[in-house]
Amino acid sequence: MITETLLDRDLALSKPTRKDDINKTGAWFLGSKGENADWFSKMILEAIQANTEVRNSYFPEDPHFITQEIKESEEYQNSLTTLEEEYHKLLKELKKSAPFFSMRSAGHMLWDINIPSILGYFSALLYNQNNVAAETSPVTTLLEMQVGNDLCEMLGYKTTPIHAPNQDFQPTESGIVGWGHITCDGTVANIEGLWMARNLKFYAIALQNAIRNEKILKPLSTLEIKTLRGENKRLLEVNIWESLNLPIDEVLALPSIITENHPEITIEELEKATSKYSIQTLGFFNFYQQYLSGVSQAPVAITPNTQHYSWPKAAALLGLGQQNLRIVPNGKTTRMDIDRLDAILADCVENQIPVISAVAIIGTTQEGAVDDLEKVLQLREKYRKKGLEFTIHGDAAWGGYFPSMIRSKDGSNDFSYLPISDYVVRQYQMLAHTDSITIDPHKAGYVPYPAGGLCYRNSAMRNLVAFTAPVVFHGGLDPTVGVYGVEGSKPGAAAASVYLSHRVIETNQDGYGKILSECTFAAKKFYAELACMDLEDNPFVCIPLIELPAAKEGKSKNEIIDELLFLKSRIIDVPNQEIIADKPAMELLKNMGQDQTIVTYMFNFKNADGTLNTDPKKMSDLNNELYNRLSFHPWQDDIEKTPLIVTASEFDPNNYCKKFMTYLYSRAGLSKVEDVPLNFIISTFMNPWIAATNQGELLKTYIQVLKDTVVDIINEKYR
Ligand SMILES: *Cc1c(COP(=O)(O)O)cnc(C)c1O
Repeated sequence: MITETLLDRDLALSKPTRKDDINKTGAWFLGSKGENADWFSKMILEAIQANTEVRNSYFPEDPHFITQEIKESEEYQNSLTTLEEEYHKLLKELKKSAPFFSMRSAGHMLWDINIPSILGYFSALLYNQNNVAAETSPVTTLLEMQVGNDLCEMLGYKTTPIHAPNQDFQPTESGIVGWGHITCDGTVANIEGLWMARNLKFYAIALQNAIRNEKILKPLSTLEIKTLRGENKRLLEVNIWESLNLPIDEVLALPSIITENHPEITIEELEKATSKYSIQTLGFFNFYQQYLSGVSQAPVAITPNTQHYSWPKAAALLGLGQQNLRIVPNGKTTRMDIDRLDAILADCVENQIPVISAVAIIGTTQEGAVDDLEKVLQLREKYRKKGLEFTIHGDAAWGGYFPSMIRSKDGSNDFSYLPISDYVVRQYQMLAHTDSITIDPHKAGYVPYPAGGLCYRNSAMRNLVAFTAPVVFHGGLDPTVGVYGVEGSKPGAAAASVYLSHRVIETNQDGYGKILSECTFAAKKFYAELACMDLEDNPFVCIPLIELPAAKEGKSKNEIIDELLFLKSRIIDVPNQEIIADKPAMELLKNMGQDQTIVTYMFNFKNADGTLNTDPKKMSDLNNELYNRLSFHPWQDDIEKTPLIVTASEFDPNNYCKKFMTYLYSRAGLSKVEDVPLNFIISTFMNPWIAATNQGELLKTYIQVLKDTVVDIINEKYR
């Protein structure tokens, strides 16, 4: 027995969660009390020095304006004084900002930004490069390409190394490599992903019509393509429904196949001829009237009801129409109900409704739920057999850095010490099979705004959203990254920021995986604390969105209490490395609570006679008031009077399905299901140290402030 425990411990201690390993995270952040300020200041000065050196070495003989004489002039001195005064005023004003550096800030998808990212941003900012074109950003364009590769690799897409100009490189065997770039945010990345999928859906039809009408493309009348059924057919003989459902990679390969087999047609000529018939040029009305008269229903994109509002925006902007987003309701949890997705797809096949894309969310914005991507991919295979093809987009704007937890440097697949369920691990592994993914470095990448990101599994996808001739790309060097997508001018500094952050922290278990594992442990401990409030005699009850495993399995009241007592003795207050060595505790921890680090919960109060309030409106008011007291109100609050930062939202019966609302109402002890939205509180854990400092853990304070505030509100309002 003893030897076994020791052995377990040894194994656990050799894993990246060991205590001394967390020490390195101390060098990655300025520190909640600015502990690294001296060293950080020195590094910032080095950036100014380096930039000054370049200014002096670039044509040193050129005249310069700011002479000693000018510096001594009164006007110059006055000017400096104004600058300093205004600057100091600004510095003072800025102190009233929301304190996201603090351990008390665990609300939004936002915590302190890491030091490498600030140094990367600041040093590159001094050069103010514009990544819209390589000539305005010779260095930072390359950095953006490297970041694109980093993100693709973390998510499981294939890449080839970025190589220097004029250097040979080897394309991958299948010829398919991924490609990624930085966008200003996740909203734009989602828009681009859907834009690409829309254009892809209609590309083959545009090409068919170009071949029919453009003389230069006449030699292509015998061009063949493999259909979804695996038959080789002449493109011109593929009917409309089938051409809307050609295999993604077959369509994407067409431009390179054509130009390889028909040297007389250049890529520019092909592009020019095809674009005349494209949805981009014609717009929906003309495209549909001219080529899709046989299709009677508008094309759709499929998104879960837990979607971020960037999806309705995307549908509106792309002319698809918001009502043509088919919404998949959530199931008993806030993960997508896969059976309902199945039903939507069946309806699309039956009624020949073109499906542009289906979205799975890897970490929903309000609940941190990870959709069952594995089942979504299986459903696509099922419907491919029925002749339906569409892209699958992973919206991992928030959750995209979490797969770093399962990337080990030595390729090890031992995830037993990770605080996440096998289900969640599997979904991260499935990301490799999606077609496009949104991932925001400015969320769980801990870098400054603006830095969202979009990755394509097949780099040819980017040509569908470029207003230039397509480039056949097998990885390696590229003329520019700025032409692919929505944006124009964009900061090279953002690329340098993410780049340096990835080089120092690394996108694997030793880096981001380390930080996010610690955060997940903290979030699970927080969940355990919330659940264990049930063991206390409080004037309120706490309802975490996710039920305890024992309750989910329908176990008896006593068994549930046993589980709570187990949480209290074996998880809460126990150092992470000891939990890892305690197999039963680890097993429970992995499988309890939320999928990532966003914890969603609600409070209900007890009446003076000890019975539970049954009025949903009053319960919502309680949670709303709690949020008001524990959030920061611009222009009203002194930050020092806000002891905690949480955020909030509501479960609206118009958006969440009836089954789910009924379940929530009953768990909260509310009388009958009414159409009253339920407000809830969100805590997002992005701070790896909240449960582990040498001076104790702040998590305890966080819990205590929550409880005290709830009690205060009850005493003031409901007693
Ligand atoms: C935050 C978020 C977005 C949008 O990202 P922004 O960078 O805020 O534009 C999209 N999808 C999900 C799931 C998100 O959490």
